[in-house]
Amino acid sequence: MPSSLDRRSFVRASLVAGVAGAVGQAPAVRAAGVRPVVVASSNGNRHKNGGTQTTVALAFERIAKGEDVLDALIAGVNLCELDPADDSVGYGGLPNADGVVQLDASVMHGPRRRAGAVACLEGVRTPSLVAKAVMEQTDHHLLVGAGAQLFARQMGFAVEADLNTENSRKKWLDWKRRIDPEHYLDPAQREVAADAAREAMIAHGRLDPLHVYGTINCNGVSARGEVCGVTTTSGLAWKIPGRVGDSPILGAGLWVDGEVGAAGSTGRGEANLYNLSSHLIVENLRRGMSCLDAGMDALRRIRANTVEKRLRNAQGNPAFYVNFYVVDAKGGFAGVSMYGTYKGRKVEYALCTEHGPETRPVEALIPEHP
Ligand code: ASP
Repeated sequence: MPSSLDRRSFVRASLVAGVAGAVGQAPAVRAAGVRPVVVASSNGNRHKNGGTQTTVALAFERIAKGEDVLDALIAGVNLCELDPADDSVGYGGLPNADGVVQLDASVMHGPRRRAGAVACLEGVRTPSLVAKAVMEQTDHHLLVGAGAQLFARQMGFAVEADLNTENSRKKWLDWKRRIDPEHYLDPAQREVAADAAREAMIAHGRLDPLHVYGTINCNGVSARGEVCGVTTTSGLAWKIPGRVGDSPILGAGLWVDGEVGAAGSTGRGEANLYNLSSHLIVENLRRGMSCLDAGMDALRRIRANTVEKRLRNAQGNPAFYVNFYVVDAKGGFAGVSMYGTYKGRKVEYALCTEHGPETRPVEALIPEHP
């Protein structure tokens, strides 16, 4: 619970949602019978960007006050994007193999049935807001690279020469020094060298094992049953320049259906690009599954489709982690993961209800990563 926001304030804020709904119509809470909820990856309850609230707490408070759900979620993830201590997102996100921070983000607005996304965006600290501008100011769903940056500039976003922080640059240099100094090995060798470098950095305590990939996904539902979601990331650390993960791809790293629910992901994006997992989860909700069952089904699909030897461990299971954060339009929620622990770290997710922000262990398909 953030220091400035005690349990009573949360209950009060939740009540305000009901009262706001009562103006000119039946109280929203009772009308839709939904208890608002916000779920996110665990960094959603970690970083405060120098303020007093985490992502899920801020988003929940704004939703409870009756603000637009997507605006509330974006305001929440902006904290992580702007906080240099979160090196998986936005400003200070871990850069690509050339040391350049390239950001991906997507947003989906359930009630308005609209979506926007950006990929490989350089120089703008808050790609989630640029994704929202794509949604609102264009006829398109996805802008990439130099075009996305030009669009951001035209929309009035500050474009900076470099989004690295001392932390992200130091980590990149460390990585660079560990791989072949020529760097451009043939792709197979490069992959092996890059993996080995990441593993060594984890072993030496230089890299958080849960932040080799790293992202924030945040989804929420209001008392009126309005569902929205946002995913924003600096993507896979030291990725090949131009590599786009699942985060900005609708259906992969985020999917929202205003009638049904929302799902988003962190972890190995390629698994979600191949399986369109977030879309699969929301379609499972449509067929009546619970958030937990819908998420587990996607994890099973990924496990079944992970057949390449290099991607499997000795047990034949995926050698990577992937997590989903799910809400349904009735206020149900779940945080699920391929593994309950990964390289010795408990895998968790962030949640906020009227009882305040919490960090909880995920429900896992496989209890422990070997
Ligand atoms: N899914 C993101 C990607 O593959 C990274 C992450 O979530 O950690 O780009």
